[in-house]
Amino acid sequence: TSSQFTGYSSQVDFTFDDIGGQAPAKQELKEALDFVLHASKITDMGIRPLKGILLTGPPGTGKTLLAKAAAAYTRSVFMATSGSEFIEVYAGVGAQRVRQLFKAAKERATKEKKDGAIIFVDEIDVLGSQRGSHTGHMEYDQTLNQLLVEMDGVKNDDDVRILVMGATNRDDMLDPALLRPGRFDRIVRVDLPDKAARLHILKIHCRNKPLADDVSLDDIAQESFGFSGAHLESVANEAAILALREKSPLIHQHHFKEAVDKVMMGEKLDRKPSD
Ligand code: ATP
Repeated sequence: TSSQFTGYSSQVDFTFDDIGGQAPAKQELKEALDFVLHASKITDMGIRPLKGILLTGPPGTGKTLLAKAAAAYTRSVFMATSGSEFIEVYAGVGAQRVRQLFKAAKERATKEKKDGAIIFVDEIDVLGSQRGSHTGHMEYDQTLNQLLVEMDGVKNDDDVRILVMGATNRDDMLDPALLRPGRFDRIVRVDLPDKAARLHILKIHCRNKPLADDVSLDDIAQESFGFSGAHLESVANEAAILALREKSPLIHQHHFKEAVDKVMMGEKLDRKPSD
């Protein structure tokens, strides 16, 4: 049953405005989604339906958030799974799970009176890399094949439209079968945030936090080059924890600075000196 899948989320109110930076990715994604929203019009033009969108980029840059926002934008239920889940949890029954996932997506969309479903497959490279090149990895093949079969079966005039969104930070590893026309034929690149985007992300994660007057998020954005959105979320969280530890009712600039150092120490960041 559907509840056996982890990562099912009932959160529908997550929007593009809750995602900092990523303006080009949001723009490209919305354009692709507008295509999905006007499926009947595009059928009339004889254009094939959009079945899959691939989000590529470094970890923690907001790919999952973009997929959730896409669900809200298209009035779809959001169902999440990941490549490694198929290997670790559903070993041996991957193909069956894919069938169940599509079936459950349709059922849930109907039950919740939504227009469609977005099936998010994180780490899709795990399923779709080097197919058949490793002996003993037949299970990956079956799972991927079934995913492609289900995607091929999606039609413009289906009652519930299903869109698969895959995410990967290893787009060099992808099976070419995934990128064939009619499959993941839109690729949206999600990059590390530049300074302005970092500031935007910091502001989003400080919305509900008591900041002292000496805080300059602009300075923190300046000092955090190379950080992903996930790192910046950690900075905001860590700064609040440091303040609490000092029994300070407000979060000060030195808490943020310490938090930046802490997050930086915890990661071997691939920092580009230019931004
Ligand atoms: P992974 O490749 O590791 O799965 P991802 O790209 O899917 O990562 P998300 O799961 O979307 O990344 O982001 C992780 C967390 O980082 C989010 O829950 C959010 O708190 C924060 N975050 C990442 N990017 C952004 C962003 N652009 N704006 C606001 N928050 C962000």
